[in-house]
Amino acid sequence: MSPIVSDSRLPHIKGSIFATMTRAAKKYGAVNLSQGFPDFAPDQRLLDALSEAVQGNHNQYGLPEGSETLRQSIAHMFQNLYGLGFSAETQITITAGAMQAISAAISSLVHAGEEVIFLSPAFESYEPAILLAGGVPVCVELRAPTFDIDWDEVEESVTRHTRMIVVNSPHNPTGRCWTAVDVDRLARIADQYNLLVLSDEVYHNIVFAPQQHITAFSDTRLRGRTIVVGSLGKTMHVTGWRIGYAIGAPALTNEIRKVLQFNTYAAPTPLQQAMAAVLDDAAYCDLPQLFVQKRNRFLDGLGSSRFSFMPTGGGYFQMLDYSAISELPDTEFANHLIECHGVAGLPMSGFGSQYATSKLLRFCFAKKEETLDTATDILRAI
Ligand code: GLN
Repeated sequence: MSPIVSDSRLPHIKGSIFATMTRAAKKYGAVNLSQGFPDFAPDQRLLDALSEAVQGNHNQYGLPEGSETLRQSIAHMFQNLYGLGFSAETQITITAGAMQAISAAISSLVHAGEEVIFLSPAFESYEPAILLAGGVPVCVELRAPTFDIDWDEVEESVTRHTRMIVVNSPHNPTGRCWTAVDVDRLARIADQYNLLVLSDEVYHNIVFAPQQHITAFSDTRLRGRTIVVGSLGKTMHVTGWRIGYAIGAPALTNEIRKVLQFNTYAAPTPLQQAMAAVLDDAAYCDLPQLFVQKRNRFLDGLGSSRFSFMPTGGGYFQMLDYSAISELPDTEFANHLIECHGVAGLPMSGFGSQYATSKLLRFCFAKKEETLDTATDILRAI
């Protein structure tokens, strides 16, 4: 008798690097700067709004497209930040985390055999989502130390089978943010070859001056062909709530909603209700300021350490280069840090196996000052 699972749908995909590192950090009681999540409390108003929602009996199914008020708040946020109008009714969809928005966008819009270009280092869910849709992942590698996008290489990788390109700014893990030139090149390629664009902008509220976030929607050539994915968990410091969203033209939104309704049906009601009550300008306008202070505290804390770095431009993460400290590949060095020093960072190879020897680890600075100080006291001494 043949084994019940003889042929994995994802033969080369391993367990999530985020879960793996968080498990290891817990096991050794290490300060966990590996997975990207804040350890500080969210706005008390958000917590109060959640108890009100739960106590007020908002505990049943919502609509598959998500809470109308929450969709309107997101529309308002995009109007406010980028001067762009989106219809809450036909263009914005709430999902159970940004990862669900990514997988729903890919599975609803990519047909079997179609190619999807993604840029590596890449967030770990892109490739499995493409594979599960029957698509063919096509990886374009970004190179250290700048991780600038070689748009000529992107263009050369387009074939007549290419359906979509997945992009990400601010970039996880490098923190690189698009320039106007990047968005122009992306728009020209997408327009010329009639491609869909999946733009992961989950850290759009966390871009450090003098840079500003440029949403893919800012270019008119991209507007009708792009799905922007966002994360309210990131914006409101509650990543475990798993509330994200997808924004796109009505025809694209319609396809994404078809998939979502038969996946989770709808994202959790009381969590959406609470977020809708609190997502106003004050919830996101000060985030660059908040996070740049954390980044600076982390970098200042490293002081004269043997790690080297380029200050990150946006997001939750700082890459540190440990080539002056160790010859070990990144996973081994990350495990050594956890087991022998009590600090967890994330190996770059979690974003592409070709980076295993890059001597780079990613550290999340979305933490309380005391957490950052404890971590940097340790890192400085290594
Ligand atoms: N986005 C977060 C990170 O990069 C984690 C996401 C997750 O764990 N699913 O660390």
